[in-house]
Amino acid sequence: MFEEEIQRLRQRGLFRLIKDREPIELSGQSASDYSFFASRIQLKGIKYLNFSSNDYLGLSVSRRISDASKKAMDAYGFGAGASRLLSGGTALHAELEKKVAEFKETEASIIFNSGYSANTSVIPAIAGDLDVIFSDELNHASIIDGCRLSRAKKVVYRHRDAGHLRELIKKEKGDKKIVITDSVFSMDGDIAPLKDIYDICGSINSEGGRLNSVILYIDDAHGTGVLGNGFGALKHFNIKAEPWIVQMGTFSKALGSYGAFVAASREIIDWLINSSRGFVFSTALPACIIAASIEALEIVRNEPALTERLWDNRQRLYNGILDQGFETFGSETPIIPLSPFNKSLSTSPTDKYADAETMLKLSEYLLENQIYAPAIRPPTVKEPRIRLTVSSAHNKEDIELLINALKAYRKAG
Ligand SMILES: *Cc1c(COP(=O)(O)O)cnc(C)c1O
Repeated sequence: MFEEEIQRLRQRGLFRLIKDREPIELSGQSASDYSFFASRIQLKGIKYLNFSSNDYLGLSVSRRISDASKKAMDAYGFGAGASRLLSGGTALHAELEKKVAEFKETEASIIFNSGYSANTSVIPAIAGDLDVIFSDELNHASIIDGCRLSRAKKVVYRHRDAGHLRELIKKEKGDKKIVITDSVFSMDGDIAPLKDIYDICGSINSEGGRLNSVILYIDDAHGTGVLGNGFGALKHFNIKAEPWIVQMGTFSKALGSYGAFVAASREIIDWLINSSRGFVFSTALPACIIAASIEALEIVRNEPALTERLWDNRQRLYNGILDQGFETFGSETPIIPLSPFNKSLSTSPTDKYADAETMLKLSEYLLENQIYAPAIRPPTVKEPRIRLTVSSAHNKEDIELLINALKAYRKAG
């Protein structure tokens, strides 16, 4: 039934394969050297430096977190057994929601089973058929799917273009308006102009009246634990958590755990508990996952050195990549996409980006140099690229090794 489609993907270099990891075997390192585990990946018996994980702080292998998780498993067992509204929740779920609300400075929060589930559940719950959604053109796929599931009209604004948003928002009538953006864009690593977007939404809200209100929905999946000393995008921009702002974030990236949260006013959280389908109709996360998220949140709060090291590493790698003349797609964060295109050498706008084949070959070249950095291809992105992510678990030598490999690739032409 799908053979032709699959064949076509293969021909265009777009066929994807799953690459599952093995446990990392020690070779002279101490078993307690967690940054070694957090910065490596082992595939078919070979260890590589991993520049493809969203585990920005190396917390996914933290002993402190796994100990907390084991304790919760001993207390509650493994499976949750039911949804939160039945009997799946535990005291740990409530504790995590309280901690998230404190962390994001909101009245309340609610846990979802994944970021994908949060976006596809919350957006349809807050955007009804009389409402209008305004969505950045490069928003994450889960936001796009959430918009499709809602009955609201959807208006797409140009990437990070607050002026375009302002123009479009003035034109639309609608009941409520919902502006949705990633804080950090997951494939380009650039940051949304949240201060400008906040000002646009705030000025409409200050005019008052339900028929003229705006909700700002921020997907902080790559901002939580990374921006604003780890507190996220609002802290980064010094924006207050207004009652009309909804902050969604995940435990699955910088926090090294699994699941997602939505932090907002008590009123919005109460509505989501009663109406968001991914919350109501899905089994709760196991307590051992929740305990891991609680511990991770504590670590991010109390150990600012972790995020500092992340940003030092990011700057070191970014500078090295720029020195080699790669295109970096406007990266401003630990997500650094790169394409071998060199602006200063190119004359035609059409050869601005390398094709999927070239990117696969570059990825293959890096692999031969013990560096794991997969190519990201359409349809995930329009322009093929290597998407590098750097973590606080990498050390200077790891980053030098990558920069030197890129240098050698350039030399080889
Ligand atoms: C990863 C990601 C999600 C999905 O989160 P999961 O917990 O992995 O399902 C949602 N939004 C953005 C911007 C993401 O990068």
